[in-house]
Amino acid sequence: MVNPLSHAGHGHVWADDLTRNQEFVLGVLAHATAPLSAYDILDRLREEGLRAPLQVYRALEKLTERGLAHRLESLNAFVCCADAHCHEAGSIAFAICEGCGKVEEFADPAIEHKLKSWSKGAGFESSRMTIELRGLCRVCAASSPS
Ligand SMILES: [Zn+2]
Ligand SMILES: [Zn+2]
Repeated sequence: MVNPLSHAGHGHVWADDLTRNQEFVLGVLAHATAPLSAYDILDRLREEGLRAPLQVYRALEKLTERGLAHRLESLNAFVCCADAHCHEAGSIAFAICEGCGKVEEFADPAIEHKLKSWSKGAGFESSRMTIELRGLCRVCAASSPS
């Protein structure tokens, strides 16, 4: 079973002031190899006594607000933040592999700059910038027949 408290040494973003439920949820995300839906998370936390979807939703809401986890819009699933600096960057990009489900998070100031200047030109006030690339990771692309 996942021990959400054994996080020292992991390369994940963590915080010391999380509630118990937030720690459980972030712990599950930190150990997952692919994005998880709220129900996947709930499934993995039944043993910890979490029964209500609302407990998971509330924890996810707080975690995503703080940037400790991110919601992938196109999958309606969550990942833990892999980059402590992504929030300073303002824009976050995800490369989602449709082969193995792996998600890579990155932030690119050049993309952000472009999007900001477009928004400015269009008079659009953007509150969030999330970019999602779908395709195949290096490993899956190498083993795909095409
Ligand atoms: Zn992040
Ligand atoms: Zn892959």
